[in-house]
Amino acid sequence: MTPGMQRCAYLVEPERVEIREVPIPAPAEGQVLLRLERALAGGTDRKAFARGHPQIPMPGPFGHRYAGTVAALGSAAPAFEVGQPVMGVHSAPCLACALCRKERWHLCPDVMKEKVLGAFAQYLCVPAPVARQNLFPRPTWLGPDHATLLEPLACVVHGMELLDWRGVERVLVLGLGSCGLLFAQLLPRYTKAARAGAGRRAARLELGRCFGLNPVWDVGSAALAEQLPAAERFDCVIECTGRLEGWREAFDRTAPGGQVLLFGGIPRGTAFAVDSYRLHYEEVRVLGSFHFSPRDVAKAREHLLSGELELDPLISGCVPLAQLPEALRRLQKGDGIQYAIDPWA
Ligand SMILES: [Zn+2]
Repeated sequence: MTPGMQRCAYLVEPERVEIREVPIPAPAEGQVLLRLERALAGGTDRKAFARGHPQIPMPGPFGHRYAGTVAALGSAAPAFEVGQPVMGVHSAPCLACALCRKERWHLCPDVMKEKVLGAFAQYLCVPAPVARQNLFPRPTWLGPDHATLLEPLACVVHGMELLDWRGVERVLVLGLGSCGLLFAQLLPRYTKAARAGAGRRAARLELGRCFGLNPVWDVGSAALAEQLPAAERFDCVIECTGRLEGWREAFDRTAPGGQVLLFGGIPRGTAFAVDSYRLHYEEVRVLGSFHFSPRDVAKAREHLLSGELELDPLISGCVPLAQLPEALRRLQKGDGIQYAIDPWA
């Protein structure tokens, strides 16, 4: 590698990732340059690789979940030390707009204005607002693989915080990918309700059981409707499939007075029709859940730093940066939950 240069993955177009040699950036005012140790390739990256993503310009640097150590500080950057291990998330709100003033930070129109892209690389410049609000020291006992999970965990915490847990006796987690399995692990910290799950692929169903979901239905072999009478409904359904059929199933399985959390995003413009009777006469509450606020990140950090979450099973392996395309193709085939990426291997 030429001095001053680094390797960085670019998403050129759907299905095409190139590993390019690019200059190591110099941190500008307020920015923090990281020497990355790990990035995480998960569901968002899989979707972006398959069909592009509204928040990921192409061609452009790719990857948004990261952990590393501080390599250099821009002027007036937060008080980190060079060499210090850190973890963070990829975005930060403006703190000044009307939505931020109402504490709806996650809906800030500028929340993605200066975001981290380029985590599949050896070095990364963390933008000033993110460095200021959402970059944190990382204790040495917390390995970089686990630290990359701060971002998905913050999204899951955001969903958890939206739900009203009063009177909830039965919960269903629909979709047992990485986020569904994080929900499964966090649920006992929020509620004493009975917890069930539904998903695909034996390994994930087994993890769901390990994390306390019972029963767990395999909807890969037969639809839930064939396994569970239509009258069986739940006070709270957490939808993590990111598919329209999943949204329908989640809504249909929500009991009168219950809540359905639509966590898995589906493409813009998708119509989602529901029976108005269920909304009005049965008071089914439909909650969208998007992104996270700095408050959610703080809670996610607490969960991560508790050391009590089982995170190893959520990372299906660690692969060199050069093998990122293969890792994404494996995810497309349902082979693995998410992969850690080592930029130095
Ligand atoms: Zn704002």
